[in-house]
Order: sequence, then C-alpha cells, then structure tokens
Amino acid sequence: MPTQSSGEQDTLPATADFLDRLRAFVREHPTKPPRERSGRLAWARAWHAALADARLAAPGWPLDAGGMDLSLAEQIAYHREMTRLRAPKHPSGLMGIVAPTLIKHGTADQKARFLGPMLRADEMWCQGFSEPGAGSDLPALSTRAVRDGDTYVVDGQKVWTSQAHLADWMFALVRTGAPGSRQDGISYLLIPMTAPGVTVRPLRDIAGGTHFAEVFFDAVRVPVANRVGEENGGWAIARTSLGHERATAFLADEFRYRRIVDELAELAVCRGVCDDPYIRQGLAHIEAGVRAVAANSRRALDAVLDDRDPGAAASVNRLVRAEFDQRLHELALRVLGPDAVLGSREPTAPEGGRWTYGYLMSRSSTIGAGTAEIQRNTIAERVLGLPKEYGTDG
Ligand SMILES: Cc1cc2nc3c(=O)[nH]c(=O)nc-3n(C[C@H](O)[C@H](O)[C@H](O)COP(=O)(O)OP(=O)(O)OC[C@H]3O[C@@H](n4cnc5c(N)ncnc54)[C@H](O)[C@@H]3O)c2cc1C
Repeated sequence: MPTQSSGEQDTLPATADFLDRLRAFVREHPTKPPRERSGRLAWARAWHAALADARLAAPGWPLDAGGMDLSLAEQIAYHREMTRLRAPKHPSGLMGIVAPTLIKHGTADQKARFLGPMLRADEMWCQGFSEPGAGSDLPALSTRAVRDGDTYVVDGQKVWTSQAHLADWMFALVRTGAPGSRQDGISYLLIPMTAPGVTVRPLRDIAGGTHFAEVFFDAVRVPVANRVGEENGGWAIARTSLGHERATAFLADEFRYRRIVDELAELAVCRGVCDDPYIRQGLAHIEAGVRAVAANSRRALDAVLDDRDPGAAASVNRLVRAEFDQRLHELALRVLGPDAVLGSREPTAPEGGRWTYGYLMSRSSTIGAGTAEIQRNTIAERVLGLPKEYGTDG
C-alpha cells in the first residue's frame, strides 16, 4: 500500500514497496516501444492504462483521485526509478496541467468524470489558451462564451494547440466578461473536441510533423457544468501556483536530462570526437548546465518543503531548462558532424535521427508555454523586484 504524505524528505525506506511494485510492473510490461512508429501511441496509451490499473500512476495525486498520495521524498524516488526504467511519457502530456487544476478547483462530479480516463490515457487533452491575437498577452484573448440557459455558446479561434488532432477534450480560457475586461472576464471551460462546430486544422511544424493545430469554434454548445470555478474567475485558476506538482515535475525532467547528457557523452566517445577541444568544451558546458537544472529543481522543491511559493524558482528554472535544451542539441549536431543532416526518416540516421529531431523541436523550447523574453520579464519583476514593464498587467 502507498504510504501517506509525510512532507519529510528523508523518510524513504531503502526498498520502498512501491519501487518493488514498479520494477515488477515493468518486467510484465516492457518499456521498449514498438519498432513501427504508427503503433507507438496506442502502445503508450495501453501501457499507461495498465499502470493506472495497477495503482502505480500519479504519485502526487490523492488516493481518491486514483493517485498514490506519496510523500515528496517518495515522489522523487518514483520519478528517478521511472527514468531509470525508461518508462514511456504519458501520451497526454498536458494532463500535468489540467489534472492538478481539477483536483484543486474542480467539482466532485468533474473529478469523478475526468480524472480516471485522463490518467489511463483513455481520453486525451489539449490546452486552448493561445489565440492569433493573444499569445504573450494572454489576457487579450477574445474567444467568446455566451450563456444560454445551462450551456455556453462558444465562438472564436485558438492556435498552436498541441495534440488538438488527438484530443477528446480541451481545457480552454474563454471570454465571458465584456470585451476588454482582460483578466477579470475570463472563464476556464472544458470543451469536448467532438462537439458540433469544433474544427481542427493541423499546422506543420519545423520537423515536418503536425503536433499542433488551429482550432475553430462555431456556435459550440458546452454545458455550464463544464466550467471550472466561478464565471469570470478563470484567470486566477489558470495562474494558480500548483507548486507541489510543478516542483516534482521539474525533478522528473532533471532525471531525464541527466540521462540524455550521459547519452550525449557516450555518443561523443562512439563517434571518436572526444579529442576535439571544441567538443570537450561543449561537453563541459553541458555538464555544468545539467547541474544548474538540478540545482534549480532543488530550489523549487526546497520552497515547497518550506511552505513557500516555488513560483520564483520555477520561472528561473524554466528559462534555464529551455536554453539548456537548445545548447544540448546544438552540441549533439556538432558531435554528429555531416550525419546530422539525416532526419528520422533516413534508415541510416544515427540513433534513428533522434538528435536531429530533438534539435529541431528544441527551437520551440524558448517559445512554448511563455517565451524566453517573457520569462525574463517575469524574473525581473517578480523575482528581482524591478519596475513593471510599461503597459503590462499580467
Ligand atoms: C511547440 C509549441 C507548442 C505550443 N502549444 C500550445 C498549446 O498546446 N496551447 C496553447 O494555448 N498555446 C501553445 N503554444 C503557444 C505559445 O504559448 C505561444 O507561442 C507563446 O505564448 C507566445 O505567443 P505568440 O506565439 O503569440 O508570440 P507573441 O506573443 O506574438 O510574441 C512574439 C515575440 O515578441 C516577444 N514579446 C511579446 N511580448 C513581449 C514583451 N512584453 N516583452 C518582450 N518581448 C515580448 C516574444 O518573446 C516573441 O519573441 C505553443 C507554442 C509552441 C512553440
């Protein structure tokens, strides 16, 4: 049985029961994905469904939400072990944002309806925040939801919506207040992607895939019961610091990056380029970078354990990670030399083209979920206490 949260960092027994159960689970459900790309999503969904059924998913969620209710120390051990076992990522990555929001602000009916299928990856989710006229300046969003009895009628457009073509549901910010009401007139709505009037138009990304899309709403009817929190109270919900979840998610990233840096060093050895002073210097920088990521994750965790808001450490962490991710992949391409031009569809591409693909996708790490410039503004204003940028109110 999972233990209850203790909040203590050093209470983890050396061989915690859940770690043994995780290893046993992985023996029965191998973590190696199928060779065929087209079968990988269905495989990852089935893997996570089995993990949830075995009560080995969602280490930080409460027991009654289907989670494990592990202490922070245990969650760290969980994420470390999952990285070591090379567990596949949850196919609906944005679950990490909407689930803690529902756990904290959702009604009992919403939790009962959505959390289970979300965790099992039976239902996929996308995030509908950005619009053509509202990215960095999100309070300018204009997709309208007008009340008509027990439903809202939604009209407007979202853009850059990751996984929209796969999603069953969207958690969206919509305008329920008067035009121009900015943060004060925004509600948080759960919109079924299968509802009449929803159109998804895929957008091609830099690597040639269609991971994100434009989403159009034409008189889409959404039950009022699908609103999370109060009408016009959505901004605060979307911005609530979900510190605990965020801090442990950072740790999961830290373990993953540690592994990737080791793999990059191995690649340099295998390619025989370790005598190149430029590569050696690059590897040293990357090693320093991964330690900086780790140190920042610890700061965020420290804040959580100390009952402080990890927001400040979190914004520094996001910027450090985003820029580190790009440097890491730039170095990988240098290590590969001319082979770096072989994309993942080339049978002779080293390691299936993963480094080149990673490089291309890393371009977005300083844009998505808030650009590097906006992160710097946030750090300047909220961490360093510098004067507010003219004209911003977010
Ligand atoms: C791979 C990827 C996936 C994404 N997935 C999603 C998703 O699932 N759901 C979703 O809602 N959105 C998603 N986004 C959108 C993302 O959140 C926005 O791209 C981001 O918020 C920036 O908004 P924008 O593209 O409108 O750029 P803009 O806000 O128009 O910014 C353009 C440029 O101006 C700079 N800038 C803007 N304002 C300032 C300022 N005040 N000070 C200094 N510089 C400034 C920016 O840094 C940027 O360089 C995704 C983006 C990417 C790249």
